[in-house]
Amino acid sequence: MSLPQFKLLRPRTLDEAISQLAKYCDRVEADHSPARDGQASPPTHKLRIVAGGTDLIPSMRQKLFEPQFVLDIRHIAELKGIRQQQGSGIEIGALTSLTTIEHSDLLRRRYPVLTEAAATVASPLLRNMGTIGGNICLDTRCLWYNQSLTWRKGCGFCIKKDGDLCHVAPGGTKCWAAFSGDTPPALLCLNAEIEIASASGVRRMPLPDFYTGDGVAYRKLQPNELVTRVFLPESSADYRGIYRKLRVRGSIDYPLAGVAVVMKRSNGHVADARLAITAVNPAPVLVKGASELLRGKIVDEALAEAVGNLAAKTAKPLTTSALTPEYRREMIRVFTKRAVLAAATN
Ligand SMILES: Cc1cc2nc3c(=O)[nH]c(=O)nc-3n(C[C@H](O)[C@H](O)[C@H](O)COP(=O)(O)OP(=O)(O)OC[C@H]3O[C@@H](n4cnc5c(N)ncnc54)[C@H](O)[C@@H]3O)c2cc1C
Repeated sequence: MSLPQFKLLRPRTLDEAISQLAKYCDRVEADHSPARDGQASPPTHKLRIVAGGTDLIPSMRQKLFEPQFVLDIRHIAELKGIRQQQGSGIEIGALTSLTTIEHSDLLRRRYPVLTEAAATVASPLLRNMGTIGGNICLDTRCLWYNQSLTWRKGCGFCIKKDGDLCHVAPGGTKCWAAFSGDTPPALLCLNAEIEIASASGVRRMPLPDFYTGDGVAYRKLQPNELVTRVFLPESSADYRGIYRKLRVRGSIDYPLAGVAVVMKRSNGHVADARLAITAVNPAPVLVKGASELLRGKIVDEALAEAVGNLAAKTAKPLTTSALTPEYRREMIRVFTKRAVLAAATN
């Protein structure tokens, strides 16, 4: 599968990237590629940002994106690295590689759930290339979407790209493609915020507000914006953190279910805890009610089981090529129970 033709833009500074975004991405317009079988293509971005390229490039080969311009932000040094902010947590540049995060002593000591989640992404080579910003902005995935053009054409396309029907939820109008990034559930548990920059300035957003819950327009990011930094607050430091992930091939695969838990205890009781799940909804989600259920209690099998049931109720997995939705929901319950018990173990 060859790459479609595009013009490569290579900014060296953030200012340059922002002005190129403003120049080439000032509007959303129809895909310049030919309409599929007479159907008009849905609106798509004229420009795509590439960071590590580990998700975007395979998707471009599958003709899921055929942008006129690709903005390669990899060389912007100011967006790389992990910095401790005096008394106010940690700042991570969007272009920091997942390997750097996985091996950061500072993060492992103070925000262990993030290093654990980063270490499970794909494979070592992909973690060397892949960035935290790319992981946060990752496109949603579906059996009927992440396929070649020929495959998708054979199935009459789907609601997420070029078609108007959903194969996993026939008759529905919502796209259920799953968000399948590993670090966002950990970041949600840590109450992380992200910084978004454009020619109009810089804004900070709590991570839960970034995701829409819709498989198509899955993130709130304008075509002229890019994610520049991730902030981990001081108040989330020093929690015990666990990440558990279900995948077919342990050495490389995307999660088919993922659970992140953070917990702080005092005198054996849970002082505070948060739980988030991934790969089983169109967005990574904090499980509502989990903190309240755990707070003030001593963790035992029954409590961990109850939290697991709550997480399973929040999960809405749909068909994938491997593993049934029922099995994946059950694994959310099992992994949550195990993660809660592990987080409560000294
Ligand atoms: C075989 C294979 C296995 C994989 N397994 C996993 C897995 O287990 N877990 C997992 O989480 N991921 C997995 N991935 C996906 C991918 O490797 C990671 O999610 C990685 O973190 C993506 O980062 P990147 O920098 O390569 O993103 P890119 O591919 O460069 O970009 C991904 C998306 O984010 C956008 N983007 C990137 N950076 C920014 C930014 N700063 N601002 C705005 N938009 C931006 C791009 O436009 C694109 O839409 C896998 C990929 C492959 C090929």
